[in-house]
Formats: sequence, C-alpha cells, structure tokens
Amino acid sequence: MIQSTTELVAIIGTPIAQVKSPDNFNHWFRETGQDTAMIAIDIQASTLELFIGAMRGWRNLRGCVVTVPHKRAAAPLLDALTPRAEALGCVNVIRREPSGRLVGDIVDGDGFLNAARDHAFVPKDKHVCVIGAGGAGSAIALSLCEAGASHVAIADIAAERAHTLVTILQSRFPAVGFTTGFDTLAAFDLVVNASPVGMGDDLALPISREMSNTLRPGCLVADVVTTPPLTPFLQVAIQMKCEVQTGPEMALGQLGMLGHFMGVTPEHL
Ligand code: NAD
Repeated sequence: MIQSTTELVAIIGTPIAQVKSPDNFNHWFRETGQDTAMIAIDIQASTLELFIGAMRGWRNLRGCVVTVPHKRAAAPLLDALTPRAEALGCVNVIRREPSGRLVGDIVDGDGFLNAARDHAFVPKDKHVCVIGAGGAGSAIALSLCEAGASHVAIADIAAERAHTLVTILQSRFPAVGFTTGFDTLAAFDLVVNASPVGMGDDLALPISREMSNTLRPGCLVADVVTTPPLTPFLQVAIQMKCEVQTGPEMALGQLGMLGHFMGVTPEHL
C-alpha cells in the first residue's frame, strides 16, 4: 500500500501499460517488507524535460527506469552519466541523489549478459552478431565488447545506425574486430535480435528464412522482444537446434542492476 511515508521509484515511457517492471519491483518490495513502491508514469515526449526538472525537487522519489521513447532524449537532461551511458548517449535508469542531482546509466547490456550467463555463454573471444543498433542493441554490443568478444557484427535496416555504432565502439575497443552486416550466420557463437521485429502479432523474422537456415546448431540465439517470449525468430532457432534466450530473461537479468543503481534493492538481491 502506498502511504505518506512510502519512498517511490518510477518507470517512465509512453505508452506504459505494457511494462512489467512495476509488477516485479513491487513484488520484491512486498516480499522484503520495504516501504517502497514503483509507479508507472505515462509521460509524453514534450513534457519530458519538465518531468526531469521536477525529479530534482521530488524528495521521496529515489529514481526512475526509462523506457521507449525517452532513453535518448533523457540523457542530455541529466547532471551526470556513467561512461557507457555517455558513450551511447542513452539511459535506461536515473538515480536521484539526496542533493537532487540526477545520474543516468544504461544497464540493458549487462542485464542481457546476466541472462546469457545462465545459458553458460562466456563472451570472451566469441564471434557475436547483433541485429538492431538502437537503444537495446547498442547497449548489448557495448557490454559484449567489454566482456571480451573478439568479433562483433552489427546489422540494422537503417545502415547508418549500424555504422555509427561501429564507429563509437571501434574507438573504445580497438582490439575487437567489427563488421556491419553478414553473409552467413554460421561463424557466430551468439546471434541476438535487438530489433522490435517479432513483437506482439508480428510474425516477421529480423532476417530472411534462408539466412536463418545458416544458424549453427548449438549457438546461442537471443531475442530482446518480451511479448511473446518465444518470438518467431526463436522458434526458427529451436528448429535449427540452437540454445535460445528470451526477452523476459533479459528483463529479469537487469532488475537487480536497476534497483541497485536507484538504491532500492534489498542487499541480498
Ligand atoms: P530502438 O527503436 O532504439 O531500436 C530498434 C532498432 O532496430 C532500430 O535501429 C531499427 O532501425 C532496427 N530495426 C528494425 N527492424 C529491423 C530489421 N528487420 N533488421 C535490422 N534492424 C531492424 O528500440 P530499442 O529501445 O532498442 O528496443 C528494441 C526492442 O527491444 C523493443 O522491442 C523493446 O521492447 C525491446 N527491449 C527489451 C528489453 C528487455 O529487457 N528484454 C530491454 C530494452 C528493450
């Protein structure tokens, strides 16, 4: 129950009714007896700057998770960014410090790696392919580089997005080999769909069916899309005898990091 003493965290985006974080966080808060609650706030883009300004003076708000479409727009409005958020120009979580100072980070990539660890995937020296160079794909590619991947292929239907991301990553990770696009998936140890293709009723694949036939059996195929958990792409991967990782696994993999960054996660999580 929210009462006058309750400390708040929020998730902001528009639309917002589809997000799962409030269920997960509020479950934690109840289970651990914390007087803390997460509220979902549907903020239109034109009001984002005012909202961020109000956060500075909102004394019982510890922070907020940021989702589509505000991840990029929120970053320059904050007082400080972590190096990875600075490099990508995106945030998915904001901490409000007691002084009102706002600090942003992006933990999508490390959340993804957390989930991949449960599939025994170790990025070091691996060849990986990320399809979709937007907010989620950029963060995943950066975390894979940090974790020692030796070759990263990045593809996006908007080719300039893939090129821009490669330029950003190349300057930070000179030892990693980068390519944009691919002719076959056979060489990859991990293939990630980080585009929204396959979301909801969309039966499309992020790559051609012919290309998906080149997936190497045993390789880890992951999707960031949360609904449905088993996307058409993952269904094809199962037919190809690949290991699969779902979007909800990635979402769960970053919950603890989001909570830690805002300072509201019980110590044992
Ligand atoms: P975004 O709009 O920033 O990026 C999407 C990118 O995909 C764009 O660059 C777009 O050009 C590209 N794209 C679209 N169709 C493509 C195709 N057929 N092939 C290659 N690239 C294509 O969006 P985002 O914030 O990165 O979110 C992407 C998806 O990830 C959404 O479905 C979102 O809900 C999901 N997501 C999931 C989690 C999670 O924890 N599971 C976290 C963040 C985002």
